[in-house]
Amino acid sequence: MKAVFVKAPYKVEIRNLPVREPGHDEAVVRIRACGICGTDVHIARKCAGDWSTIGHEIAGEVERVGTHVTRVRPGDKVMIENCTFCGVCSNCKNGSVEKCSSWLTLDDQPGAAEYITIREKSLHVFDDLPFEHVVLTEPLGVALDVTQLAEIPLNSNVCVMGPGPIGLMAVRIAKLKGAKNVILVGNSHSVRRLQVGREMGADEIVHADTCSVVDWFRTHFPQGVDRVIVTSPPKTLLDAVKIAGFGGIVSYIGIDFGGEELVTFDVNEVHFKRLQIRASHAVPNLMFPIAIDLLKNRIVEPEKLVSHVFPLESASEALLCAGEDKANAVKVVLSC
Ligand SMILES: [Zn+2]
Ligand SMILES: [Zn+2]
Repeated sequence: MKAVFVKAPYKVEIRNLPVREPGHDEAVVRIRACGICGTDVHIARKCAGDWSTIGHEIAGEVERVGTHVTRVRPGDKVMIENCTFCGVCSNCKNGSVEKCSSWLTLDDQPGAAEYITIREKSLHVFDDLPFEHVVLTEPLGVALDVTQLAEIPLNSNVCVMGPGPIGLMAVRIAKLKGAKNVILVGNSHSVRRLQVGREMGADEIVHADTCSVVDWFRTHFPQGVDRVIVTSPPKTLLDAVKIAGFGGIVSYIGIDFGGEELVTFDVNEVHFKRLQIRASHAVPNLMFPIAIDLLKNRIVEPEKLVSHVFPLESASEALLCAGEDKANAVKVVLSC
């Protein structure tokens, strides 16, 4: 099978790998689509080191199954969890599957490839959704997690920082949860992303590169906002703490890839405003069923988010588009 290998800056090789035979509880899935995530772009853009594989937002069609598989059959369309709770560790057995200490992973199998061999319990059967759209299930799961952590009250003012696919979906979910005003913060060059932000329900857009975000909020929301959802680089937590109002919750998702992971903020401000800062890390994957349902019923409209689809052979163009076409790229997907 073909698989994409990547090396910075934006070098791509398509190599041939063997397809692994399924174990008793596994299925071989013919991958049909794989979303390109920020992590994949980072690997392609500047990750030092040897060639690596990419892709963890994976959907496909079951081709054959092991002898003990009962829930899926050849021909089923499936979305794949890239990280599944084990169900048997102490945390899982105590009812906190989100704290699973022995996740089951893809075992280094790439998503930007033609086949994957994966345990049955990581598969979600779906219908009535194109493969290129259903791959949004994974980032939507992340958006659901970071939004759930923020506990958005009815009629509240919510700031979402970062107009990537996760931030854009968080805007939509915040509106669905009853936010009165959702203010999306992003750079002005992200033209299409900000446009989609409006379509997802953002009431205001603030350009982080052309004005002081903190000053804008001090003018328009002198009491601060009720909730801040941070999907931009973690250093923007500094602004989030300043624009959150009394009793506010700041939830955030994101890792720094080196250099700006140390953020300094005024602890007195956090204390006197009684702020809560909550980290999201949507691993293991949860909420795939609700995410698939939201996409299928177009409550979160996938066609607004998937801006580009490239064939697997054009992975190099796809990565360049996702990493460099700031004006036009929202979610870039490989059709495998
Ligand atoms: Zn992802
Ligand atoms: Zn577990």
